[in-house]
Amino acid sequence: MEICFTEKEQAFYNEVDAFLQTELPPDWPDKSIIWPGDYSPGGYGDEENYRIADRFKAGLIEKGWLTISWPREYGGKAYTYMEQAIYDERMSYYRAPMIDSLGIGIVGPMLLRVGTPEQQAEWIPRIAAGAISMWLAYSEPNAGSDLAGIETTALRDGDDYVINGQKVWSSGAHLTDYGWMIARTDPDARKHRGVSLFIVDNKLPGVTMRPIINIMGQHSFNEVFFDNVRVPAKNLIGGENKEFYHLMSALDFERVTLVGIGGFRRMFEELLEYARTTERNGEILGRSPAVKRRLVDLATRLEIAYIYVWRTAAMLDLKKDPHVESSVLKVVTTELARDMAEAAMDILGPYGQLTAPSPWTPLRALVSRGFLESISATIGAGTSEIQRNIIAQRGLGLPRT
Ligand SMILES: Cc1cc2nc3c(=O)[nH]c(=O)nc-3n(C[C@H](O)[C@H](O)[C@H](O)COP(=O)(O)OP(=O)(O)OC[C@H]3O[C@@H](n4cnc5c(N)ncnc54)[C@H](O)[C@@H]3O)c2cc1C
Repeated sequence: MEICFTEKEQAFYNEVDAFLQTELPPDWPDKSIIWPGDYSPGGYGDEENYRIADRFKAGLIEKGWLTISWPREYGGKAYTYMEQAIYDERMSYYRAPMIDSLGIGIVGPMLLRVGTPEQQAEWIPRIAAGAISMWLAYSEPNAGSDLAGIETTALRDGDDYVINGQKVWSSGAHLTDYGWMIARTDPDARKHRGVSLFIVDNKLPGVTMRPIINIMGQHSFNEVFFDNVRVPAKNLIGGENKEFYHLMSALDFERVTLVGIGGFRRMFEELLEYARTTERNGEILGRSPAVKRRLVDLATRLEIAYIYVWRTAAMLDLKKDPHVESSVLKVVTTELARDMAEAAMDILGPYGQLTAPSPWTPLRALVSRGFLESISATIGAGTSEIQRNIIAQRGLGLPRT
């Protein structure tokens, strides 16, 4: 069996690669502060780099690459999931500046499936142009892994729904324009029913955001409170009290090809280079059996993660349900991000703990950042325990615990 790209896929790979090499400075990967699978905004250092990032994003919009897998009639290019995965791999390998993935990865495709023509006309062009950004309003104080436990209500009153309740762990909500929210529209229905989807303007009266500071001391999450917030009924997406969990999980698959797998390869290559070239106590680090073992372990897991990226994309193109594969991919990549940070911390020794830029900070202090940040990814978008439950039940046929 040979696993390789088709001619068309290879040509697209080369095209994206050439674009990145032309449009970004050669040292861009060293400017972009990001650990593989990062949730928190890392930044690009000085103002000039932000200008480069803005120019690059404008170039992506012009090329129509933000929405490459969307249908042509909605401004997309109707590319395959495999091509989408190739694009994501190259972009993340170069640590290229990205644009709001929630609107493009989840909200847009959902609107294309279940939105009315009026809703599509209102939202799709703005999402496709990267003109608006969104936050994910799912989790609540009593509903995370068990999302069916949400208590926030959206009750119909004339031409509006009136929203009351609270969301939490709302990543980047303070930097965005709209919430993509699930709320309970029928409080009397059974737990898994009576839930609907809304687009909610952050600026509506009654919306209050309070920062939550993350493990790195950054404002990345929020608590968001809704106090009699009146949302126009036209912002209800897909009808009232539909079983949106199935639809949502189906759409999550589309996100699965967007794990930023190239960023893992880039970080691993940097770590490998460090071990090859750095002397400690008169010995090259990479000569140590302990260092070799850690690097070989990471290299092996990186290859497995890559195979799962291509496999999941191929299944989606064949219209097969990659429910188990997407959970495997989530566990493999997020735990690799965490374990790569731990291995890097061990290999760098005390230097790994340095955070400030200084001559003694190897790898631009990415390791201390990754060590703190990478825990998040094993929790966000469904914890490793929940993914293992899915693999156990759906993949291995084991009974529910
Ligand atoms: C970095 C980050 C970003 C996030 N961004 C967002 C966001 O933008 N929007 C949003 O809505 N939410 C967001 N979340 C919230 C995230 O979706 C939840 O934290 C996650 O689903 C877990 O829910 P919880 O925190 O309520 O923990 P709980 O569900 O209470 O789980 C607590 C612990 O119990 C374990 N557990 C729970 N149920 C089971 C079970 N059945 N079997 C075995 N173990 C179980 C969990 O694995 C976990 O270890 C984010 C979280 C993180 C860490």
